[in-house]
Amino acid sequence: MARRPMMAANWKMNKLLREARDYVEQLLPLIEGSEGVDVAIFAPFTCLPEVVRMTRDTPVVAGAQNFYYEDSGAFTGEVSAPMLLDVGAGAVIVGHSERREIFGETDALVAHKTVRAISAGLLPVVCVGETKEERDAGKMWDKVSAQVRAVFEQLDASKISGEDVIFAYEPVWAIGTGETATPEDAQDAIGRIRDLLGEISGEEFAGEVCILYGGSIKPENVDDIMAQRDVDGGLVGGASLEAESFAELVNGAAKGG
Ligand code: PEP
Repeated sequence: MARRPMMAANWKMNKLLREARDYVEQLLPLIEGSEGVDVAIFAPFTCLPEVVRMTRDTPVVAGAQNFYYEDSGAFTGEVSAPMLLDVGAGAVIVGHSERREIFGETDALVAHKTVRAISAGLLPVVCVGETKEERDAGKMWDKVSAQVRAVFEQLDASKISGEDVIFAYEPVWAIGTGETATPEDAQDAIGRIRDLLGEISGEEFAGEVCILYGGSIKPENVDDIMAQRDVDGGLVGGASLEAESFAELVNGAAKGG
């Protein structure tokens, strides 16, 4: 089955409720003509119920940026999968590099969250990517392949379809820096991730999995990135914060990049 392009906004720790409302109100009419693209907004927990409410009966999926794999209990500050489902979230980012680097999330924790998201019926967007030091040392693939393999140490791919999980290749050096991977670098890493998924889980699974690129995507570079064979879309931070520029990215993806 052909994979659908996807454009996902990661608001990170931005937007008050009023700003979230204004954004969604502005965005929806701007992306009306882009039915061929899956669109997601990963909002802070505080805005999530409102984004869910405003995007109901639209093609936009409202998601969270993080969660914890236990369902309830003494985990101060955490939010569980049932809580996300309770407010109507459909997806969740797992293992964003900011969570890995600032909050110390390990490969094992990311894998555990991925398994729980899928079993709960949330679509996980699992982020992987290397630092600048790792890339400069020629260790990009060592790092990225280890992160992908770690997910499948806990996730049994024979029990799910490739449509139950999304991967995002996000080189850490390109996130929020304005420095974008070249389209060829994005294709190289994402093509290798798809090949690895094929090795681990079979060709059918690998052919179904949507793999995004993330790292300083903007309206000026989205076409070249989307034109790459294995790149199915984008996970976007900075350029997703204004409804107009995120709409440009969605509409760019709808044109086929
Ligand atoms: C991200 O946060 O996932 C991201 C890719 O950020 P930016 O687009 O700002 O680089």
